[in-house]
Amino acid sequence: MKNYLEYDVLIIGTGIAGLSSAIKLNESGKKVALITNRSKPEESNSYWAQGGIIYMDSDDKLIDDDIQAASNQTSNSLAIEHIEENSKKIVDEVLFKKAGTTFTKDDNGKLKFTQEAAHSFPRIIYNDDATGKAIEISLLNYLEKCEHVDLFTQMTAVDLITPSHHGIEIHQRYETTKVVGAYVFDQKKEKVIKFLAQKTILATGGANALYLHHTNSPTTRGDGQAMARRAGAELSNMEFIQFHPTTFYGPSHHRRFLISEALRGEGAKLVNGSGERFMKKYHDDLELAPRDVVSRATINEMIENKWDCVYLDITNESKPHLKKRFPNIWNHLENNKYDMSTDLIPVVPAAHYTCGGIKVNQSGETNLKNLYAVGEVSCTGLHGKNRLASTSLLEGLTYGYTTAEFMLDDLNEDVYSHLKIRDWSSSQEEVDMSLVAQDKMIIKNTMWNYVGINKSRNRLLRAKAMFSSLHEQVQKFYRGAAMHDELIGLRNSVEVALIITNASLRSVEN
Ligand SMILES: Cc1cc2nc3c(=O)[nH]c(=O)nc-3n(C[C@H](O)[C@H](O)[C@H](O)COP(=O)(O)OP(=O)(O)OC[C@H]3O[C@@H](n4cnc5c(N)ncnc54)[C@H](O)[C@@H]3O)c2cc1C
Repeated sequence: MKNYLEYDVLIIGTGIAGLSSAIKLNESGKKVALITNRSKPEESNSYWAQGGIIYMDSDDKLIDDDIQAASNQTSNSLAIEHIEENSKKIVDEVLFKKAGTTFTKDDNGKLKFTQEAAHSFPRIIYNDDATGKAIEISLLNYLEKCEHVDLFTQMTAVDLITPSHHGIEIHQRYETTKVVGAYVFDQKKEKVIKFLAQKTILATGGANALYLHHTNSPTTRGDGQAMARRAGAELSNMEFIQFHPTTFYGPSHHRRFLISEALRGEGAKLVNGSGERFMKKYHDDLELAPRDVVSRATINEMIENKWDCVYLDITNESKPHLKKRFPNIWNHLENNKYDMSTDLIPVVPAAHYTCGGIKVNQSGETNLKNLYAVGEVSCTGLHGKNRLASTSLLEGLTYGYTTAEFMLDDLNEDVYSHLKIRDWSSSQEEVDMSLVAQDKMIIKNTMWNYVGINKSRNRLLRAKAMFSSLHEQVQKFYRGAAMHDELIGLRNSVEVALIITNASLRSVEN
């Protein structure tokens, strides 16, 4: 049985960014492998997106101001220009024309637009409150027609292959550092195989599941960032984790259900335990202030008054309207015995979006030859310190497409010989899952309590010491145990926890 596969391009991740690259590359007739570690390819953050995606007119003069204002003037203007110039035609081509994604329309068949925090006017299109699901499923349906793309599920990328590290001969160490594919763990066959490719695209998403309370899919454990760093890629802005202010405060399995910002866009007010509309004290834009401002204000209210949560009030809207406009949120709350047309909704902030990531230029290139990154795993600088709502699906779709387009001119090399790359050697000792589970909880609790919304030097130093020691333990344990998707995730999580902590320390010390 072969222990290697050869492709022109290897894409790791089947969210909006990876799918956008795959769909574009398919047109070229090049051979593409698209892999995900989950059994169902839709299992991703993209699937869970609720609010919508920006659909921008060419005369939208305010997008630049809005993105910069939300990020406190820290966004990369080149990335904003890239989105301004390319995104509309890509939404038209990929979502409307190819995938036929459905969006909510009015009675005359015209697209409806909604508004979220820090947007100057309604410019977001949506599919009720399940926009991500509509996009992800329509892209996956279109992918079935893409004959040059092979989709693999339950395949976990373990490490990027660089001949200078993984070559058979000493002489390969003198080659320019370049990525020639990845070692991938086949969960069904329980073995690691070599995927060799001319180019590799990381589209593995963010790292928010490292926190105790988050809104994300469990796939966001920082695998891409960790693999890239081990191979020598630069990361940037890793301290900028966005916390969403309004997630449902109820029985939680760590993944907290998001109460979309679109509710506040459509008039919901935030009130504290005394019934006071507290955002008046914090920002002129009240509930529509940037997310970081609302999250910090909420945590302040909770800590000062020892409240467990604050509340969203949308009781001014009628039951039929709320049921129609927000069907998923309605169902979730109803299952938890809340009627949002009459009850206040208890909410708390939770980790939501990784603004930083693998540093890329406007062509999606990293500092490593033949390695690209797209979507939430990357850092184009578009979001600076704090992301404007509904820009991330757009960023993933746009850069996924333009990165693929950019590399097309340069796909003429031979795939690196598998004979010159070492096979993966792994141990056979069965992994102790209770150790993995406990280590994961240490990471989640420490990230939440010491590297969370309010950071201090002392908390970060404590977190650094804990993660450094855990990192050492996990490395030893990892080397001795047989491969498992959870173990791969643990190794990556502790590395990325340390990266976020160190970046946060640098930023509080400056
Ligand atoms: C609840 C929620 C609501 C949101 N609402 C909005 C919104 O309204 N508008 C908006 O613009 N954004 C929204 N976002 C953010 C947005 O959904 C994400 O930023 C975006 O979907 C990220 O897309 P991606 O393709 O980069 O990554 P993802 O969609 O997270 O996909 C990552 C993929 O990589 C795979 N993967 C990870 N590690 C490995 C590995 N080691 N090997 C193989 N595969 C791997 C995963 O299985 C997955 O297939 C929301 C996010 C959440 C969680």
